[in-house]
Amino acid sequence: MLGLYHYLTKKGHKVTPVSPGDIPDFLGWIPGTAIMLNNEAQPAESLEALKNADLIFCLDFNDYSRTKHLEQPLADATQPKILIDHHLFPKPVWDYGMSIPEKSSTCEMVYDFINLFGDNALIDLDIAACLYTGVMTDTGSFKFPITTASVHSMIADLKHRGLDHTRIHEQIYDSWSEIRMRFLGYVLIEKMEIFHKYNAGLISLSRKDQNLFKAQSGDTEGLVNYPLSISGISFATLITERSDEVKLSFRSKGDFDVSLFARNYFDGGGHFNASGGRTKTSFIDTIAYFKKILSDIHPR
Ligand code: 5GP
Repeated sequence: MLGLYHYLTKKGHKVTPVSPGDIPDFLGWIPGTAIMLNNEAQPAESLEALKNADLIFCLDFNDYSRTKHLEQPLADATQPKILIDHHLFPKPVWDYGMSIPEKSSTCEMVYDFINLFGDNALIDLDIAACLYTGVMTDTGSFKFPITTASVHSMIADLKHRGLDHTRIHEQIYDSWSEIRMRFLGYVLIEKMEIFHKYNAGLISLSRKDQNLFKAQSGDTEGLVNYPLSISGISFATLITERSDEVKLSFRSKGDFDVSLFARNYFDGGGHFNASGGRTKTSFIDTIAYFKKILSDIHPR
């Protein structure tokens, strides 16, 4: 969103970036976050921006329900809406746009979008930093199968412009607080269950677990990937108790479709190897339900 913001601003447009919620601290350095509106903290300003817009770009989601409290205002907004997104099964509510699940990330698509307008030369270091961050995080630092040759060509182009990729990796992966690192240790020792029979791993975090280490939502980011680093484990799940719901994150290696799994059992969706869902049932009941499904479907 901020990569597109910088580009459209350079083109002379007045742009207001709005996020449905807060962003984790480790993304706070991204150029433009300071002027971004957070709908949860600034609902009046966000709604005003939505009301005054001539065009609404919708980035990295394809269903209004993914935007929390912006769902209804977006559904009610009559301005043309432009989708740029790579998730499966877009809702047919957009006027224009690109929906390409084969793309690594929405940031790769924003890069394509800029190039489609012949504006490659406008990509400066701020835009490059924003787009690199999105591609890097969505491809698992360029390791997931979705990391095509086009992704590498894009990154080569950003490097030719002077992008400092090491600094970005450090900001994202090497800027943890000590307590976050200790929280990870606690989670791996105390909260991770491995079901070798089902090639599956599960991490479940109650509110109490999170409070023990004063964990913020950003601190649980990436935890779901750890079980997948164990040999033979191809399906990983993170169940997090939140104040208003229980959130589930799913990841897989290989040919287990977690998007289908999320849709079938947890009212969710996402990608083939990375998806999420949620329940309104209790944390304990969600864990029990998940384990029951695991033994029923026996993922490979
Ligand atoms: P995460 O586990 O990081 O929250 O999400 C992984 C992927 O699944 C992201 O692409 C995200 O957009 C998608 N996703 C997460 N939760 C949901 C959900 O409840 N519904 C849908 N449709 N997609 C989700």
